[in-house]
Amino acid sequence: MEKTILVTGGLGYIGSHTVLTLINAGYKPIIVDNLCNSQPWILTQLEKLSGQKIKNHAIDCTNFSDLEAVFKNEPIHGVIHFAALKAVNESVHEPLSYYNNNVKSLLNIIELVSKYKVRKLVFSSSCTVYGTADKLPISEDHPIKTAESPYGSTKQMCERIINDCLKAKKIENAVILRYFNPIGAHSSGLIGELPLGIPNNLAPYIMQTAAGIRSSLTIYGNNYNTHDGTCIRDYIHVMDLAEAHVKSIEVMEVSATSHTLNIGTGKGNSVLDVINAFENATGIKLNYTYGERRIGDIEKIYADTNLSEEILKWKSKHSLEEAMRDSWKWQMYLKSK
Ligand code: NAD
Ligand code: UDP
Repeated sequence: MEKTILVTGGLGYIGSHTVLTLINAGYKPIIVDNLCNSQPWILTQLEKLSGQKIKNHAIDCTNFSDLEAVFKNEPIHGVIHFAALKAVNESVHEPLSYYNNNVKSLLNIIELVSKYKVRKLVFSSSCTVYGTADKLPISEDHPIKTAESPYGSTKQMCERIINDCLKAKKIENAVILRYFNPIGAHSSGLIGELPLGIPNNLAPYIMQTAAGIRSSLTIYGNNYNTHDGTCIRDYIHVMDLAEAHVKSIEVMEVSATSHTLNIGTGKGNSVLDVINAFENATGIKLNYTYGERRIGDIEKIYADTNLSEEILKWKSKHSLEEAMRDSWKWQMYLKSK
């Protein structure tokens, strides 16, 4: 029988791509998503793409009794916990919402994973837990510095909570994934990132500028100490990221060791590299200007992926161009809707 994986936040950007990847790997995903940052029609898209009925429980992970009903009624084999608020800027202005949503959701998940003896938990963390890198590429043993935002601090707290609960044997096995910068979309162009309002992140801003929704992209700073003066990140295709979650579940099938792993490509690319990749992939010239540095931006960060490649037997496969092509397909699909 197919093993059931509970995917919280499964209608969101990374969650939706992971739901498809789980189905392709022979798992049965069920979703818990309260739609606070996603749309119900994404479920229809997932059903179209997979040819299967998929269940979403439209409940809030901060509500213990609603969440417990799901654990009571479904034979849950593992949990992938994506559900969280993720806008760094917003978290500075609304810290309570971020602590309440992100930390309380995880506390509820852990309590239920413990009570219902679910032996596999995958948690979405972020490279934001590192802050400024002392050494690049950054490896998992890099010191964790004081977080720059309430969002970053919720991820640090959640990692700490998971590690304390593992030590106390409240949970048996967990894999914490520290994502670098997710970009791209499913190659069908039928699902992708769906930013509400003005996007903060680079890739959706590029797509909306090229689609004429925004008049121009502002590159935040061109006087950094990098090959072209613009900041460097590790951009990873969302389908590679999705696969890392399935591999994490598979690793926990055969070993009870818990891990904290970087999920990136291991390569640093500048803002201009991303724009060039977009222009090469689509043949569209992007309208952009240089502006001031954005407060809080780190000059460069990219992952040391040796540990994740070794533990998960996984490696990112997609190029920056492929990610740009797939995001553009998704942007065109949104326009046609
Ligand atoms: P997203 O906002 O697209 O998806 C999150 C989903 O969770 C949304 O569909 C939202 O409706 C749902 N959700 C939020 N709070 C909930 C709650 N209390 N109960 C039920 N559902 C809830 O975000 P994403 O980009 O897919 O990110 C997924 C995870 O990865 C998050 O934990 C995020 O912090 C983490 N992460 C994201 C990035 C990134 O750049 N996208 C980078 C690093 C880490
Ligand atoms: N960026 C930019 N213009 C934008 C959005 C982002 O120049 O409109 C730059 C930003 O300064 C950073 C990179 O793109 O160097 C990635 O930014 P994003 O917000 O996507 O990710 P993060 O900074 O959180 O890693």
